Amino acid sequence: MKAKSLSAIVMPLVLAQACAATVRQTRKAPPPQMIPAGTPRQPPPAPGDVDNTPNTDPDIRRLAFITPTARPVEIVYRHRARSMGSPTNGTLENGRCLPSEGPGFVDFSKNRCATDETIVLLMFAIKEVMTAYPDTPPIVLGSLSRPGGGPLKPHRSHCSGRDVDIGFIPANGRPLRHFVNLGPEGIDYDRTFFMIANLIATGRVKYIFINYSLQSRFYEAAKRMGYDEDQLSYIIQYPRPRKLRTGIIRHARGHKRHFHVRFACPDRDTQCTDE
Ligand SMILES: [Zn+2]
Repeated sequence: MKAKSLSAIVMPLVLAQACAATVRQTRKAPPPQMIPAGTPRQPPPAPGDVDNTPNTDPDIRRLAFITPTARPVEIVYRHRARSMGSPTNGTLENGRCLPSEGPGFVDFSKNRCATDETIVLLMFAIKEVMTAYPDTPPIVLGSLSRPGGGPLKPHRSHCSGRDVDIGFIPANGRPLRHFVNLGPEGIDYDRTFFMIANLIATGRVKYIFINYSLQSRFYEAAKRMGYDEDQLSYIIQYPRPRKLRTGIIRHARGHKRHFHVRFACPDRDTQCTDE
């Protein structure tokens, strides 16, 4: 398919992206310590920049958060999909599906459906990487969920529209179409972590699974981005032992060619469960 501009995919979902200082937040904001120390804040919004229209449509959702580069973002989108049950034993209603390629990504999987929130936040993070590092090759996506969710071999999870497999960004800048074993030296840790940091900053990511053998390098990338010890221990399991699965980024078997993002249950999806 011919690649549309990123805004062509994001804009129907992102009805407004404005400074969010006075906008009612529908979710708990990510911890303020996610902002690297010393990062300048953007100036407050000009009068008229902020949409204070009362939200009466329960399907219109707003996510307000601060990016790792300290930019306030508000994403407004239509919430039609429902995540039902757990990632390992659930389904997906009215799933929203990605094309096999689009601005900033290719997806080699046949299973490209998820909740609206998963799709919107994934597109947001891809756009942030492409804006910060415009020469990044398209991000390689793998499985999300089937249109109606349910079991998806060979995965144990990916049942309920909240799991996404994302290829590590290659250090040599070569465009890829599948997950490739880049080896520890072949991963661009700074760019890949920048995408991860943007995902975490949304406040909607529950876990990111990465093999422990690669975590020390992601830990160093996070340090280079300016996170301190407290922030690092919130973000990543390393340097705690391999068996101590804690932190958003945590060990799971495999996950040497890609990382796996698990989003939290969307607000008011009452039949969605975490485990
Ligand atoms: Zn996965």
